Amino acid sequence: MNLPVVEIFRSMQGEGANTGKPVVFVRLGRCNLACPWCDTDFSVTRPMPPEAIADAVDKCSDGVRAVVVTGGEPTVHPGLPELLRELKDRGYWLALETNGVNAPDAESSKLLDYVAVSPKAMYAELYDDEKMATKADEVRIVADGDIEDFCANMRSRISARHYFISPCERDGVMDVATAVALLGRLNSSQRANPWLLSLQTHKLAGFR
Ligand code: SF4
Repeated sequence: MNLPVVEIFRSMQGEGANTGKPVVFVRLGRCNLACPWCDTDFSVTRPMPPEAIADAVDKCSDGVRAVVVTGGEPTVHPGLPELLRELKDRGYWLALETNGVNAPDAESSKLLDYVAVSPKAMYAELYDDEKMATKADEVRIVADGDIEDFCANMRSRISARHYFISPCERDGVMDVATAVALLGRLNSSQRANPWLLSLQTHKLAGFR
C-alpha cells in the first residue's frame, strides 16, 4: 500500500527528550487537523510503497539506526503498520510523532520504540477517550494561548514518561515567555515529574 511521502532526510531530533539524537525523518503527507501556526508544508507528496520508503531511508541513513515517522499526521494512513514492519525488519529503532487524536493501531504500537504525542488545544473537543492516544513516551504541547486547563486535562488522560511545553512560533518569532509562564503555573502544583521546556532547537540552530 502506497503512502504519501513529503520528504525523507537524515538529521537530529530537534525537540523533546531525544533532542540531539541522530535520526532519519520520514515525513508523510495529510493531517486530520489544520492548526493555523502549522509549519509543515505537506501539500506536495509522492506516493511510495513501504519497501521504496525503507530503501530511501537506507540510502540516506549513513549509519544512523533510528527513524522518526512524522507528518502531517501519520496515523491517518492505513499503510502505517506495513511501513513500520518494513523498517523494523531492517533493524531500525522507530519513533512516531502524532497529534494523538487517534491512537496508533495495535500493530503499529507493537513495532514502535518511542511515541511522542503532541495534543492540540484548539482541537480539544476532538480528543475522545475511546479513540485518542492514552499512552506515550512523551507528551509535548505547544503553548498556544491560555491552555493550562487543557494541559492538566491531557496529563490526566495520557500516561507518559515526560511532559513538555513548547513555545509557539508565529511569523518566525518563538514565544518563549508565554511557554515559561505556563510552565510556572503548571509546576506550581506539580512537584513530581514536572513539566519541562522543549525548545525547537532545529529552528534556533537553523537545521531541519
Ligand atoms: S497537527 Fe501538526 S501537522 Fe497537523 S496541522 Fe497541526 S501542526 Fe500541522
